Amino acid sequence: MIYDAAIIGTGPAGLSAALNLKIHEKSFILLGSKSLSGKIQKAEQVRNYLGLPDVSGAELAAAFLRHIQSMDIPIVEEMVNSILSMGKHYALMAGSEFYEAKTVLLSTGAASAGTLPGEDALVGKGVSYCATCDGNLYRGKTIAVICGAARFEHEALYLAGLAGKVYYFPLYASPSVERENVEVMSQRAVGIEGEARVSGVRLKNGETLAVDGVFCLRESVALATLLPGLAVENGHIAVDRTMAANLPGIYAAGDCTGRPYQYSKAAGEGNTAAHSMLEYLAELEKAEGK
Ligand SMILES: Cc1cc2nc3c(=O)[nH]c(=O)nc-3n(C[C@H](O)[C@H](O)[C@H](O)COP(=O)(O)OP(=O)(O)OC[C@H]3O[C@@H](n4cnc5c(N)ncnc54)[C@H](O)[C@@H]3O)c2cc1C
Repeated sequence: MIYDAAIIGTGPAGLSAALNLKIHEKSFILLGSKSLSGKIQKAEQVRNYLGLPDVSGAELAAAFLRHIQSMDIPIVEEMVNSILSMGKHYALMAGSEFYEAKTVLLSTGAASAGTLPGEDALVGKGVSYCATCDGNLYRGKTIAVICGAARFEHEALYLAGLAGKVYYFPLYASPSVERENVEVMSQRAVGIEGEARVSGVRLKNGETLAVDGVFCLRESVALATLLPGLAVENGHIAVDRTMAANLPGIYAAGDCTGRPYQYSKAAGEGNTAAHSMLEYLAELEKAEGK
């Protein structure tokens, strides 16, 4: 099936777009986390969201969730690793799954957060964002896993089942990845080293650990990796006032398009993007003579 739209990200931008596409009875898939966005959950107190004075982030997230559930919008809990142009539509790779859509909304949050020096240059040369896709390449080998959230621990355990040795770098409190071949590191990883391929991970104390590969399991994927050819300015997706990016059918909304990083801006841009996608789909239908 080719969906009318694929929405990547379950923060306010993606959810707002989903509501509007649903109201207009479009077929779409919403990919992200069932717990929505870590950034919504983390806010202690939100005072600037219209109509909901003094809510906590958790309360706001619960309100968002109630809203999309009441409209029967399911979330498909997947990380999208890459998007490929298929000519008139796009294919999205998410772990071992594959989805197709005529338009895509990138609502992935602020993008550059956490990327390590050396990482971008070594993507596909030992740096991976997908345990399911690339884990098999590291059977019996030594790898580092940089893990941004407890919800990715099952992927780290999957990798530990394949690799000979895993250096595990949790970026969150109280990790529980227990296996004989997993060493949970207290030192932070500050860089990835290698020329033609990954050779090591640089630690904060100046040491380098020799590894064959590095898996970065984060809440987002670097934009250049996600969609080759996407125009990026100062780390944000370049968009026009309709939230269109430089590639046909590709739209972006929320923190990934630039500051200010705010819930209302994200929700508003998601709304605008959805309406632009509706127009784009109508043009497509006209061109196809439907
Ligand atoms: C502690 C804290 C407090 C804040 N307080 C306020 C406040 O009081 N008021 C205010 O207006 N703003 C506040 N903000 C900012 C606000 O949280 C953000 O501006 C807003 O969440 C941005 O929404 P978004 O939809 O663009 O992205 P996000 O909320 O970041 O959501 C993006 C989602 O996309 C998912 N994603 C990313 N890449 C992929 C992929 N490849 N595949 C699938 N899913 C993917 C992520 O996992 C995430 O769930 C606060 C932020 C923080 C961190």
